[in-house]
Amino acid sequence: MQQADIVIIGAGHAGYQLVKEIRKITASRSILLLCADSGDYYSKPLLSNGFSKGKTAQALVQKTAAEMATEYQIQLQTHCVVESIDTEQKLLQTRLGQVSYQQLVLATGASALTPQLPTAALAISQPINDLADYQRFLQRCEGKKDICILGAGLVGIEYANDLVNAGFQVSVIALEQQPLAQLMPAPLGDKLAQALMQLGVTFYWGNPITDAQASGEHCILTLADGRTLSTELILSAIGLKPNTELAKKSALVCGKGIRVDQYLRSSNADIYAIGDCAEICQHVLMYITPINLSAKALAATLCGQPTQLQLPAMPVLVKSPALPIVSCQNRQPDHTEWHISGEGMDWQALWFDQQQKLQAFALTGKMVGQRMRLIKQMTDLLPAAG
Ligand SMILES: Cc1cc2nc3c(=O)[nH]c(=O)nc-3n(C[C@H](O)[C@H](O)[C@H](O)COP(=O)(O)OP(=O)(O)OC[C@H]3O[C@@H](n4cnc5c(N)ncnc54)[C@H](O)[C@@H]3O)c2cc1C
Repeated sequence: MQQADIVIIGAGHAGYQLVKEIRKITASRSILLLCADSGDYYSKPLLSNGFSKGKTAQALVQKTAAEMATEYQIQLQTHCVVESIDTEQKLLQTRLGQVSYQQLVLATGASALTPQLPTAALAISQPINDLADYQRFLQRCEGKKDICILGAGLVGIEYANDLVNAGFQVSVIALEQQPLAQLMPAPLGDKLAQALMQLGVTFYWGNPITDAQASGEHCILTLADGRTLSTELILSAIGLKPNTELAKKSALVCGKGIRVDQYLRSSNADIYAIGDCAEICQHVLMYITPINLSAKALAATLCGQPTQLQLPAMPVLVKSPALPIVSCQNRQPDHTEWHISGEGMDWQALWFDQQQKLQAFALTGKMVGQRMRLIKQMTDLLPAAG
């Protein structure tokens, strides 16, 4: 049976960043990392601007799993799905046998939501949420020209910009009436849509697909308003869901993600969660900066220095070269109005709470240079608990 002081499930940014932070503190704790995938180390944010740079999946691998294991002196078991956790015995059941842990960290990430689509559309649809998806999509793209993206959130918009720059005919179908509806008000979204349309992206707003018919190499999609469009491939970018199944099977408390406190501790004292799978004090934050800060705090805690996670207000920089965008939200704006100003493609939107504190902003074009000044006006997203 394999065993280690610290067992981490997941070799994405969260799992590896935690390993790096632990090794900054100590070389003596044994670490075993288990993952369902190849365990190769890559930067997931680079997936959504890899097409225009002509990057193969292999070219995006920064270090192989074996190189990571050697560099950080860890045991690493790849292609090893963890099926269940016996929290009493502190044992994991994996496809490759049992593993015993002292402290367990769940870094199981998030999975792409599957869209409800007619059969012919589903057959040509896939998400890109990891390196294997990226490779599969690249293969499916060969010889094709028309790509339809489902969803106009952060990931959908980044892929739209990248794929149009890579020479594809790109259309975007979204249920909302604007791009990045969760991150900015409509007038700024309209500027982004305008910039992408100038590159050749076609948008279909507020319209689910109601029918799909295969026609040779193409698929004819019919939208709710009766319009039709022809595509060869669909990239589904309708959102992600934290992977909580393993935690739920082990009776850990879960909400949207695996619920953890400010020490990243779950409802079981020896089990922690980090990254896209975690819900930290009611926040699900699927970004690199909170993962880096979480890894630093959790490494200290696991090495005997209990350390609370504190999070500042964190901006999201959208990788949309057509029009630079930054958004920052401590709270989701409600129905009260944004304060919007600007001209041309350079706009700012500020959202204040009832106490007149800045709780969210969005910037386009040259206004993105204002982000540091605005962040200074915001309170921490997760301050130190008293
Ligand atoms: C296209 C795209 C672009 C992005 N761009 C940005 C950006 O510009 N800036 C930014 O801040 N963020 C960006 N993000 C978000 C960021 O990349 C993620 O928040 C981060 O990579 C998540 O890392 P993770 O380790 O939590 O999860 P993952 O990378 O999903 O890793 C999960 C790991 O868990 C393993 N696993 C899951 N279940 C099991 C199991 N039962 N047994 C064993 N192993 C298991 C998997 O094999 C995998 O190794 C982007 C995301 C996407 C999809």
